[in-house]
Amino acid sequence: MRKKIIAGNWKMNKTLEEGQSLASEVVNIAADEVAADVNLVLCTPAIHLGAVASITKSSDKVSVGAQNMSEHESGAYTGDISADMVLSTGASYVILGHSERREYHNETNAQLGDKVKLALSKGLTPLFCCGETLETREAGNHVSFVNEQLKDSLFDLSAEEMQKVVIAYEPIWAIGTGVTASTDQAQEMHKSIRDSIVSNYSQSVADEISILYGGSMKPANAQELLAQPDVDGGLIGGASLKSRDFIEIAKSY
Ligand code: PEP
Repeated sequence: MRKKIIAGNWKMNKTLEEGQSLASEVVNIAADEVAADVNLVLCTPAIHLGAVASITKSSDKVSVGAQNMSEHESGAYTGDISADMVLSTGASYVILGHSERREYHNETNAQLGDKVKLALSKGLTPLFCCGETLETREAGNHVSFVNEQLKDSLFDLSAEEMQKVVIAYEPIWAIGTGVTASTDQAQEMHKSIRDSIVSNYSQSVADEISILYGGSMKPANAQELLAQPDVDGGLIGGASLKSRDFIEIAKSY
């Protein structure tokens, strides 16, 4: 069963106090207003994970996730955070392969494959991001480009591992730009991702995997995107920084 997931990626925003207030607001409003089958995830800066997780602990709707983790278990990697550390804060998700990490930190498909495997082995749910640049889309290569990302990072997982992964399709040209993929563009790519899982694994594995859309999703466009048959939720950047906007997106399901 594909889970409905609305995840907020706070990126490098919010001080500790601001993050705690935002998390409290989301928990309180979600309790009254968000449907029981919609799962919210707050992906906070690493330094806030423990404090935010202690706020969401009482909620059956809101979980916490990191925005990255190391592919190494532990050791001399100054400034990095490990899967065990993420887990020990109370977080249960981790975003891996966000386009900003790929671009500014040169994260590769192979490295991301290692991160996904490590996260799964520790019991964290990877929220694996993929997506093409505008140039790639305009050249008509978006489907093959995204397929390549999936193949290189995910498709050597066992079926049992694979069905625990959440995928976020995030066209880079739509992230933080205010430009959203059309419903047809989103559905085409989500269906192609699901078909690719069917051909590399099986229909039953593909039926377990939630595929989220990310890229300028906001209250005004969420409903039509979330209504697409292969869109199982959203990864929200800018609009996750205000509790009301984030909740309105979750309510559009
Ligand atoms: C993101 O960074 O994952 C994202 C989708 O950002 P925004 O919603 O701001 O486009």
